[in-house]
Amino acid sequence: MSETKHNWTKEEILDIYNKPMMELLYDAATIHRLHHDPNVVQVSTLLSIKTGGCSEDCGYCPQAARYHTDIEGNDLMSVQQVKAQALRAKSTGSSRVCMGAAWRNVKDGEEFDQVLEMVRTINKLDMEVCCTLGMITENQAQRLAEAGLYAYNHNLDSSEEYYKEVISTRGYQDRLDTIGNVRKTNVTVCSGGIIGMGEKVEDRAGMLVALSTLNPQPESTPINALVAVEGTPLEDEQPVEIWDMIRMVATTRIVMPETQVRLSAGRTQMSREGQAMCFLAGANSIFAGDKLLTTPNPDVNEDMKMFDALGLNPQKPFTKKVQPQTVEASSSQFEALGEKPKWTRPDHKIERNELAKASAKLEK
Ligand code: SF4
Repeated sequence: MSETKHNWTKEEILDIYNKPMMELLYDAATIHRLHHDPNVVQVSTLLSIKTGGCSEDCGYCPQAARYHTDIEGNDLMSVQQVKAQALRAKSTGSSRVCMGAAWRNVKDGEEFDQVLEMVRTINKLDMEVCCTLGMITENQAQRLAEAGLYAYNHNLDSSEEYYKEVISTRGYQDRLDTIGNVRKTNVTVCSGGIIGMGEKVEDRAGMLVALSTLNPQPESTPINALVAVEGTPLEDEQPVEIWDMIRMVATTRIVMPETQVRLSAGRTQMSREGQAMCFLAGANSIFAGDKLLTTPNPDVNEDMKMFDALGLNPQKPFTKKVQPQTVEASSSQFEALGEKPKWTRPDHKIERNELAKASAKLEK
């Protein structure tokens, strides 16, 4: 089995991305087979446990409070509601539940304690638990690990250069710091990005440089195709071509051979044949459920029909890593520190984000 390389350059990655398609597919499928069972695909269910009202200005996101979108905001779900949804996900073949909250960063207090209880509850259902809660400190990462968290998602979104064109309210280094905090625990790292935000191919390669040079590399990498939502600054972006998605998946597979590559947002715009080519190119995970936080996703039954047609099987939980132990809140060795982290705030504005904010104000 080949060694994982941690010093990929942008030029090397661009050379891979731009190969003739048949060669690229062959190379990616060959590497995929060396490291994974090509007939097994992990199924994750993404659950929005707190929707909308976020203070950040991510140009693609309908949950940012400053843009005028049709998203209905919701307060934090109860532990019982989350448990019911997790059981439903388990009964339809999901091995992982990923809980997303539209927060800039985690704040110690009642709501975070409730999320920790959700993590304990789902881990006891023998499912892998993932959270995506925004930026977290090392202490918060440790508390999540102690509760039994299996993975933490924090996407780099794009290259460092293009990131500044999409988000102004935090910096790339803040993202890397959160990933670093997760890495200090036994929680696995899930980090990827979005294509179709107006970035160049060089930015896609730049994002893969940032991810693949992490050591260890992320255990899972979601590749999203932008779902352009009306009211967001990126509402006019054109849908990503399936060929771009296949190239991105294949390149990710080649530079991160061990990583679980997840086909994420944008699957409703892809045909079954297009998705099959992504699986051939090395994708081995999908998000299930009719919604991905707030954007549409294929129906679970449709996905199972696709699995049947392609002879794919859902991956069992804890195939890659043993189940974490849950420590009850009463026996916790960590206390809330109430830290107020000083996140870097790049002093710049993004014109199209400002325009979207201004037009949302006018509509109100
Ligand atoms: S992507 Fe996350 S951090 Fe950015 S606006 Fe949306 S919910 Fe907030």
